[in-house]
Amino acid sequence: MSVLENLGRVRERISAAACRAGRSPEEIKLLAVTKTVPLEMIREVIEGGVTSLGENRVQELVQKYRDLPIGLEWHLIGHLQTNKVKKIIDKVALIHSLDRWPLAEEINLAALEKNIVARVLVQVNIAGETSKYGLSPLELVDFVAAAARLPGLDVRGLMTIAPWTENPEEVRPVFRRLKELAVHLKNKKAGATLQYLSMGMTGDFEVAVEEGANILRIGTAIFGERH
Ligand SMILES: *Cc1c(COP(=O)(O)O)cnc(C)c1O
Repeated sequence: MSVLENLGRVRERISAAACRAGRSPEEIKLLAVTKTVPLEMIREVIEGGVTSLGENRVQELVQKYRDLPIGLEWHLIGHLQTNKVKKIIDKVALIHSLDRWPLAEEINLAALEKNIVARVLVQVNIAGETSKYGLSPLELVDFVAAAARLPGLDVRGLMTIAPWTENPEEVRPVFRRLKELAVHLKNKKAGATLQYLSMGMTGDFEVAVEEGANILRIGTAIFGERH
């Protein structure tokens, strides 16, 4: 199947999952995750109407940002080192991976220096996997409240990466928990705009949609296996 056929198929699956959950597919943003994907393939999905791209490495994002047309929306979805914040702060629409306090401070400073407000999601490690970054649900309320007080930061929501599994039903509770945490934060008036739930990848995006995801980060289902 071609990349465009894959893209069409992914969109159909998103629509069907949204329908099952009584949601409108229009409220769900599809990020094409382009890490390691060559430019020609990325250009194909842009032709197919994709406008939002996700990268997990700073270097690769900066390069593709330079090589691809302007007007695309770039998302940094991977772990971000504090010394690389300045390289991407004015290029990305959203940083999905705010996962520790020193990074919040660094993003704040870099944003203020450029006279912008950086839009971020707080990454949560719901399943407590030691291999994954992110705050524990217990730390979340205090962290979000503190981050929301930084003038260079706009906390727009939460992000999680579910544990890998063959059967996506197994990670439904992870997605449900992220949604509950967002509702809890809203009730606590943590000061953040909790608009976005970034959850769902190739193996589990339909379940994520059913549980309220409004940003999906999908690579393999569109571009095929990475090399
Ligand atoms: C690579 C990556 C994805 C996309 O993964 P696929 O399984 O290929 O869809 C999503 N989120 C993050 C943070 C990633 O690094």
